[in-house]
Amino acid sequence: MNAAEILKTYFGYDSFRNGQEEIVRAILAGEDALAIMPTGAGKSICYQVPALLLPGITIVVSPLISLMQDQVKALNEAGIHAAFINSSLTETQIAKAMRFAAEGRYKIIYVAPERLESAVFMQFAQNGKISMVTVDEAHCISQWGQDFRPSYLKIVSFIDSLADRPVVSAFTATATREVRTDIECTLKLHNPRVVVTGFDRENLYYSVEHITGKHKDAFILDYIQKHADESGIIYCATRKNVDNLYEKLSRSGISAARYHAGLDNDTRKKNQDDFIYDRVQIVIATNAFGMGIDKSNVRFVIHYNMPQSMENYYQEAGRAGRDGESAQCILLFSVQDVMIDKFLLEKKEFERMNAEDIELVRQRDARRLQVMEGYCKTTLCLRNYILEYFGERASAPCDNCGNCHQEYYEQDMTSDAKWVVNCIAEMRGRYGLNIVLGTLLGANRARLKEIGASAYKSYGILKQRSETDLRLLVDQMLAEGYIVQTGEYSVLQMGDISRLKEESTRVIVRKAQEREDAADKTKTENKKKKTDSLTSAGYDLFDRLRQLRLVIAKEAAMPPYIIFSDKTLIDMCAKAPGNQAEMLAVSGVGENKYQKYGERFIQEIAAFLDENPNAVVSTQIDEEPAPAAKKGRKGAFYLNQEDAERFQYAEYCYISDIKERMNQVCTAVNVKKATISVIWEYLVSAGLVAEEQGQEGCRKVQTEQGLNLGIKTIDKISQGGYAYQLLMYPETVQRMIVEYFVGAR
Ligand code: ADP
Ligand code: ZN
Repeated sequence: MNAAEILKTYFGYDSFRNGQEEIVRAILAGEDALAIMPTGAGKSICYQVPALLLPGITIVVSPLISLMQDQVKALNEAGIHAAFINSSLTETQIAKAMRFAAEGRYKIIYVAPERLESAVFMQFAQNGKISMVTVDEAHCISQWGQDFRPSYLKIVSFIDSLADRPVVSAFTATATREVRTDIECTLKLHNPRVVVTGFDRENLYYSVEHITGKHKDAFILDYIQKHADESGIIYCATRKNVDNLYEKLSRSGISAARYHAGLDNDTRKKNQDDFIYDRVQIVIATNAFGMGIDKSNVRFVIHYNMPQSMENYYQEAGRAGRDGESAQCILLFSVQDVMIDKFLLEKKEFERMNAEDIELVRQRDARRLQVMEGYCKTTLCLRNYILEYFGERASAPCDNCGNCHQEYYEQDMTSDAKWVVNCIAEMRGRYGLNIVLGTLLGANRARLKEIGASAYKSYGILKQRSETDLRLLVDQMLAEGYIVQTGEYSVLQMGDISRLKEESTRVIVRKAQEREDAADKTKTENKKKKTDSLTSAGYDLFDRLRQLRLVIAKEAAMPPYIIFSDKTLIDMCAKAPGNQAEMLAVSGVGENKYQKYGERFIQEIAAFLDENPNAVVSTQIDEEPAPAAKKGRKGAFYLNQEDAERFQYAEYCYISDIKERMNQVCTAVNVKKATISVIWEYLVSAGLVAEEQGQEGCRKVQTEQGLNLGIKTIDKISQGGYAYQLLMYPETVQRMIVEYFVGAR
């Protein structure tokens, strides 16, 4: 058999996904390999397929017991001989497994890194034929990674001790450049084939909701009610939050499981299983939950608090939508959370590290937090923010995230900014944000009286503003360096205000347009669901097949998704197979699974069609719907001539302004809104702008032609303190854009 045949026969898939084939080929050609692929991309296939073709045994080093068990179950289900050896087995079981391994009964053996040191295991490895050593979750080898495991360092000496060096392959989902380099060096990979598939998870919809503490619960309740029937994870920063939310949901009659380190092992295990086996839809958990959770049909991941790093967030949020169907990742942000995170970092303890390293790690932690805060506060495309962080070239805004769907407007707050400066001057830079805001708003607080704030000129001067507005303003002023926040108590002090004194300087704050109902919005924006191709009869069939799967899962004491994924069941509904050949054509049905379960599913489908002779179960199922088709039936944006005449031209403005003004004047019915990305696409095609690949990732620049027409670059500093640039478009270019969309009719 060749690789493609293995893929079909054992795993039931027709073709390799992006990146998989290259890795498989490299390994089969005897090359070392390093694959960096996001969660759900299909890393396991990359080493499992070659493992079956290589002459000897493949040893897979994996950090977690649950992960190993799951993988081995899935392999055995597919008819592949595999085993794991770890501390969950008794000595007798281990001895037996080692004996079988020595007899060559297994093609793939999963081990925890500690095992590599054991004399018995070494002996087995030195006598047996080891064709490949695979390092799963390879980022655990990096000291700078989030999940550093000292025992991973033992892998290298283990490999060195083998008489014939096997192929070494390493896999990870989370790797910044420095971690990648660490893996290559520390594992001593020999000129490896490195494959990095994109970090973009197209099926995930990212959004950030700015909500304070008490409103978060209401948001979640509402969200769950609107997404009944969907499986989801809610991550909280602390055990206490988990417990509180758990109680609240329980009182509202929602059944959920909870998971954190404060529960005893048995309870944790039971709760986790309840979720995995679909006995409850929702799990509320700390970040202790999830490593090794392969559940494929998680439809949403909500973060109740901001995580401490983008690596964490990407990994936790990435547990949504592993099956490739659309899913939502929502982060509930409030300023208090950032303070809690800072506090947690301060308390963090370090073992076996010298002072210098500790300081380095502290700095990195602080920087990670800052990146995360930047994610929560950016008004730009969230997907691009993530991609750029992981060092990937981002393109035009994605049009599939909360920020791309949010409308922003700009408010000139220059005079307010001057009052902020005055207030800080009156306080001689001794107080923090809360006192400054309280003073400007004229709050009636004991602490303000105590410090004599009511005597200040600035007291109550901005009372017509909301606190939220002023917070945004302060953020902006910090970003522009007019004020600085320093010291243990984060007091606000004067920065460089020379520019603020110039007549022409403006302080502009970008604000989100009010939304009626945030929870509702995320729902309507992302309606395309996995079962959309099914008719209501199809949905009934899907339900029946799910029931059957549950029965089989119980018989086999196996999580349902290991029997068949939801995606496979949906494909089954769509194809309604009536015989073996048709069943084998369903994605995810390999020969072994067909032998075990195929007939029962065929019978169930036949019974259903018998009872419902005229049922049409599915409309044309579109395996990978084109992006345009995902977004409803509205036509592309255009402008009528009369509308175009009402467009308000400015001397210079941002692309977001052009988008907004076009939307304001547009009266055409049943067309999509203008988006930044469609305008950008036009500008690229007209040769006025381009995306330039630089060291720092991708930059948007004007071409020479654009420059000649007067497109200019404005330097900005982000809240996180990073310099970025925005393009501004002169009236001539605004006219070109408007004319283009009149022509697009
Ligand atoms: P990762 O380890 O990268 O997070 P997995 O190996 O768990 O991802 O694969 C995610 C899902 O994708 C699994 O359900 C797997 O069976 C499926 N999958 C992997 N490769 C393919 C393929 N070539 N075609 C279809 N489905 C695939
Ligand atoms: Zn976006």
